[in-house]
Amino acid sequence: MSARILITGANRGIGLALVEQYLDANFEVHACFRNEKQAAELIALAAAKPNLQLHQLDVTDHDAIEALSETLSDKPLDILLNNAGYYGPKGYGFGNTDAQEWRKVFEINTIAPLKMAEAFYPQLKQAQRGIIASVSSKVGSMTENTSGGGYIYRSSKAALNSVVKSLSNDLLPEGIISVALHPGWVQTEMGGPNALIDTQTSATGLKHVIDTLTPEHSGGFYNYDGSVIPW
Ligand code: NDP
Repeated sequence: MSARILITGANRGIGLALVEQYLDANFEVHACFRNEKQAAELIALAAAKPNLQLHQLDVTDHDAIEALSETLSDKPLDILLNNAGYYGPKGYGFGNTDAQEWRKVFEINTIAPLKMAEAFYPQLKQAQRGIIASVSSKVGSMTENTSGGGYIYRSSKAALNSVVKSLSNDLLPEGIISVALHPGWVQTEMGGPNALIDTQTSATGLKHVIDTLTPEHSGGFYNYDGSVIPW
């Protein structure tokens, strides 16, 4: 039986590159996208790859998360990859933070990964070595924050890191590993054209990190090259 992975935000950027990585590794890949109009490449890939199944999911829709979990309740889930993310408005520095946008970013970057973990807990528990890998960001690290600003995105990823740590404490006794991953500064819509690495390099690194996880790694924060990122 092929190992099973579920990836959110899989229609473009790092998520799409991760889908390709796991297809090459013969996983049964469940890839989530929000909007068909933004998912042409993923839909074309699914037409050519029988082990790729697509699901429409806005990660802020908790009923839809529950419904997807029900749809996928037949088999164990080896990896839940919380990849979907949103930066929010750029250029908002101290003094003019948009609280409404802040709530939206938190819904996607912080609350959704926990809701996904809660919904897919039964399937993760059934796997030999269930993994919850949540794509965070180095800018969510307190230690790395030497330049200030970025209140919305930074705080959403710092809070995600806290969620990852609690998941690790709660679920490791049941054999489920939870980690936060930094994908590098990646050339995507979010990372922009000046970013340092392409999506393939990031996804190859992230998959290698996930492949080599042991229970001792749970509750940690890792770069795509495997190095540890301070909290
Ligand atoms: P992109 O902006 O290229 O892609 C973001 C993905 O998230 C898209 O698939 C998007 O779907 C999806 N998404 C956004 N909101 C929702 C939602 N409400 N429900 C479901 N899906 C949603 O970003 P990246 O590929 O660069 O980022 C992937 C992850 O990596 C994110 O968590 C990001 O924070 C993180 N990251 C990225 C870095 C970089 O340099 N690129 C650096 C550090 C971290 P849609 O197409 O429908 O909008």
